Amino acid sequence: MKVCELFKKSKKPLFTFEILPPLKGVNISTIYDAIEPLMEFDPAYINVTYHQQETVYKKRQDGLLEKKVVSKRPGTVAISAAIKFKYKVEIVPHLICGGFTKEDTEDALIDLHFLGFNNVLALRGDPPKTERFFRPEEGGHKYAIDMVKQIQQMNKGIYLDSDLQNVTKTDFCVGIAAYPEKHAESPNKEIDMKYLKEKVDAGADYIVTQMFFDNNKYYDFVNSCRKEGINIPIIPGIKPITSLNDIKSIPKIFHIDIPYEFMKTIENCKNNKEAAEAGIEWATYQSKELVKFGVPSIHYFTIGYSQNIVRIAKEIF
Ligand code: FAD
Repeated sequence: MKVCELFKKSKKPLFTFEILPPLKGVNISTIYDAIEPLMEFDPAYINVTYHQQETVYKKRQDGLLEKKVVSKRPGTVAISAAIKFKYKVEIVPHLICGGFTKEDTEDALIDLHFLGFNNVLALRGDPPKTERFFRPEEGGHKYAIDMVKQIQQMNKGIYLDSDLQNVTKTDFCVGIAAYPEKHAESPNKEIDMKYLKEKVDAGADYIVTQMFFDNNKYYDFVNSCRKEGINIPIIPGIKPITSLNDIKSIPKIFHIDIPYEFMKTIENCKNNKEAAEAGIEWATYQSKELVKFGVPSIHYFTIGYSQNIVRIAKEIF
């Protein structure tokens, strides 16, 4: 079933979460181990992230460095299918613009359609770690909005090659990302909102937010969206902190604030175990408040580890 229909049908907030494909070479059982403890909470759907290829430099025997392009976490489509058929649960595979030509995107969407998927999260993707700015593939999309448009064209039966005959229409429900505290590259919130509105008008069905630790940022963002005429569901993304270092690394990587009170709590923790406990408490508190606010769903970022999400889900769902 399409995610947008699940939101309409449900009278209570849905439990959903996101997993990463394992690192190359690692067994798929690690993914099942992360998912299984969460299945008792009846997830409405599970997202599977997509990871662009990266450039790495390997030292050769002669001491020189060799440039290599590697996929560190391949397998998004295969893992999505494996989970869908093993657990009979809806899956939202992520698809990114980075590293894809428009033809690659079309082919990936055809794969997903043939496998029976009718949900996709359309993203631009981040620049690879070795680069400062996002560079679209030659003949690929520059922004997520362009992928949203392409998917909506395919939903109408319009493919890139207009000479194709007997084409089938896809039927994707399209999710997109948004940033309550602004996307890192946006000069200001107003511009970010303008582009978000355009992305929604291009045919997005719902929004999933970047993680936040202060619910007021989410509430303000929802209000701004509604004022702008963005009326689709806005799903809050929640990530429990798991280590002492998270309060330093998360703001740096994701460009979001850690509220003063929470930062002090983590700073007073003696070790990662205590920090993880505090992370569970904070995310549980956030989740309870979001339920009171009336969110359609709460989306948890697992980053491959689910025991903390189990503890939160026990309290909320
Ligand atoms: P866009 O919507 O294209 O926006 C990117 C930037 O361009 C923004 O600053 C926006 O304001 C600006 N912009 C948009 N349109 C225009 C325009 N016409 N002209 C000028 N500027 C414009 N990354 C992955 O690689 N794989 C994943 O699986 C993944 N999953 C994610 C899941 C969620 C819930 C979230 C919130 C993010 C995820 N990301 C993932 C990260 C995401 O790819 C990055 O944050 C990326 O930098 C932006 O993606 P976007 O789809 O929001 O981009």
